[in-house]
Amino acid sequence: MGNHEPVRLCIGCRTREQTKNLVRVAFEKTRDSRSLVIDTRRVLPGRGAWLHHDPECLSTALRRRAFARAFRHHVDTEELAEVLSSWLSDSTNTLNNDESGSEN
Ligand SMILES: [Zn+2]
Repeated sequence: MGNHEPVRLCIGCRTREQTKNLVRVAFEKTRDSRSLVIDTRRVLPGRGAWLHHDPECLSTALRRRAFARAFRHHVDTEELAEVLSSWLSDSTNTLNNDESGSEN
């Protein structure tokens, strides 16, 4: 409604979406490994990949290797897939998403 929320492309379904409806995944480099982390506060530096709060989008992104493309690097998505899919299926983790909260 007339607001100017930033918009990003979901790497799963490739739909443009306001960032408040997306989850950010960041590429974190540690001393001897690189891993993908869920950037719930959207504060991590570097490239980010954006995804809907939807396991469908996650599996689509994984199937298309969209993470590697988003980060321009080979990334190990196995661990992320586990973390993210449980994160996505836990409705208490959704950010600002009260559309389904009809019991309130
Ligand atoms: Zn999506």
